Amino acid sequence: MSAISGFRIGLGMDSHRIAVGGPLILGGLKLDVDMHFVGHSDADVLLHAITDAVLSGAGLPDIGQLFPNTSAENQGRDSAEMLSIAMQSVRDHGWEINNLDCVVQMERPKLSPLKEEMKSRISSILGIQPDQISLKGKTGEGVGEVGRGELCEATCVVLLLKTMPQGA
Ligand SMILES: [Zn+2]
Repeated sequence: MSAISGFRIGLGMDSHRIAVGGPLILGGLKLDVDMHFVGHSDADVLLHAITDAVLSGAGLPDIGQLFPNTSAENQGRDSAEMLSIAMQSVRDHGWEINNLDCVVQMERPKLSPLKEEMKSRISSILGIQPDQISLKGKTGEGVGEVGRGELCEATCVVLLLKTMPQGA
């Protein structure tokens, strides 16, 4: 048995430019579409926002400090692996996830048909249940960098719980 001894909210945001040629790595899935995100790692914009949200909530150094983009080790790196390492560090500091709420802004592909598979994948990376994750897709309404299909932005808020053994 454990009792909740504290709450923390964490916010993570990320953006990556979009270029021609697939596959697209998003939310831990490899999507067969003719576009990809540009970045030093595999550029999974959603996993990066989630990574920063959990790290930030736990008061830990951010993704850029943990996995510098100047390091050859992080070239083309699997963002799922980075998230898994970050989450382990969050747990080591006594925090667990209550829930995540995420928004992905891009013109295409549509997020709705991918949502359930993406939630399942993200929950397995984090060691939580899919129903602890909310995912929403938004477009840029044809305006700005997102609307022109040049950029994808992701935002994530997380609620972390600190638990301690009952009686402690
Ligand atoms: Zn990123």
